[in-house]
Amino acid sequence: MNKMMKMMVVAIIGIFMVACGNNSKEKIEKIYVGTNAEFAPFEYLENGKTVGFDMDLMAEISKEIGIEVEIKDMAFDGLLPALQAKKVDMIIAGMTATEERKKAVNFSETYYKANQVIIIAEGAEDISNFEELKGKKVGVILGFTGDVVVSEIDGVEVKKYNAGYVAIMDLKEGKIDAVVLDGEPAKNFVKNNEGIKITSAEGEKEEYAMAVSKDNAELLEKINTALTTLKENGTYDKLLKKWF
Ligand code: GLN
Repeated sequence: MNKMMKMMVVAIIGIFMVACGNNSKEKIEKIYVGTNAEFAPFEYLENGKTVGFDMDLMAEISKEIGIEVEIKDMAFDGLLPALQAKKVDMIIAGMTATEERKKAVNFSETYYKANQVIIIAEGAEDISNFEELKGKKVGVILGFTGDVVVSEIDGVEVKKYNAGYVAIMDLKEGKIDAVVLDGEPAKNFVKNNEGIKITSAEGEKEEYAMAVSKDNAELLEKINTALTTLKENGTYDKLLKKWF
């Protein structure tokens, strides 16, 4: 081989190696997933890590699709704007697929059915339906479906909080009469706080789903396919058992 040919072979091998390197990088696409890690057991912080049912489900979905995921923790009412501004590719946050939100984003198939409940002080009289909140001071978390439900009842003094635990603190101190929240996080608060209980009133069913930008049909389809697989192969049930 003459010098020229040797140089060419080296160059070709070099190009080939770079191309392979790029290829393997391209295979693992990374997406940003928005959540609000203040919603145990769906998502919460433990030793600085975001954990919970939604996080496990997201990890399984990303394995199915073959993508890498980076979680972005933010305020709940900042999630939809972040998705629309393309700061995140999707949302998993115990988010209810409401008609209002459907105007702005697309939702995946349902992955959990929930309902709103009322939390009151242990000594207080039971509240058997949401209409009985009339005349009471009721804490809700800003932008949650509980906020919408309670704000629609006439005659309720609604107090809006940025975080659930602050509302619970005010309830314990007698500053408000009740807190309206999704069932599972409510149970979690009652388990971890003395002197509060869930009433017998049950709000309408809500469905949690993952949100994707309206112009990203491809990701939505991949998520739905992965979700179906996880439901069929028992992984989804395993996660339910682990967390609830
Ligand atoms: N399910 C409620 C909603 O969508 C609360 C969700 C949450 O706080 N993460 O508004």
